[in-house]
Amino acid sequence: MQTLATEPISPLRDFIVAMTKLVEKERDENKLIAESKKYLKTLISTDTWLPEFCTVPHPDYYQQYLLHTDPLERFSVVSFVWGPGQKTPIHDHTVWGLIGMLRGAEKGQRYTQDASGELVAVGSEAVLKQGDIEVVSPTLGDIHIVKNAFDDQTSISIHVYGANIGAVTRHVYEEGSNKVKKFVSGYSSTQVPNLWDRSASVRATIT
Ligand code: FE
Repeated sequence: MQTLATEPISPLRDFIVAMTKLVEKERDENKLIAESKKYLKTLISTDTWLPEFCTVPHPDYYQQYLLHTDPLERFSVVSFVWGPGQKTPIHDHTVWGLIGMLRGAEKGQRYTQDASGELVAVGSEAVLKQGDIEVVSPTLGDIHIVKNAFDDQTSISIHVYGANIGAVTRHVYEEGSNKVKKFVSGYSSTQVPNLWDRSASVRATIT
């Protein structure tokens, strides 16, 4: 990825620039996921770029802070903030998604629907540690539950999805049942980070 400037938020801006170019040219979903994974790996290798307001947990609910949505809604980037012990319901995404662990750790369990539509667990619970990336998609397995691995600290993961995920109609499930309910997640804040104040690095070039 090209480095455009040196503001604290630069790694996020570089990631978004690279993703925008990628979704423009790559139509093969497997290649798109493989390439996005590399970019996300770089993004989560440091954590000082994440604005403070996108790190704040809520006492009762995990938070989903939108960091960016592509104007054509081909991808979105979200900061998930997990308070101690917080977890999602069992849910799907309906589009490809990457989960990159930035701070702390998460536990995830995958599910599938059997022939009768009943939800059954796939494999055992997996732990995602700082720097790890997990992939979900309708073709690779799309149903899971995610929870903070810690009961005494906040964890943060950076998610990338192949749509404006907060505005996608998705589904929640119950283990051992074929009950399915539709939901639209939305986002936890009306603010998004300002990626574009590059004035400090431009001023530094003035002679
Ligand atoms: Fe998920």
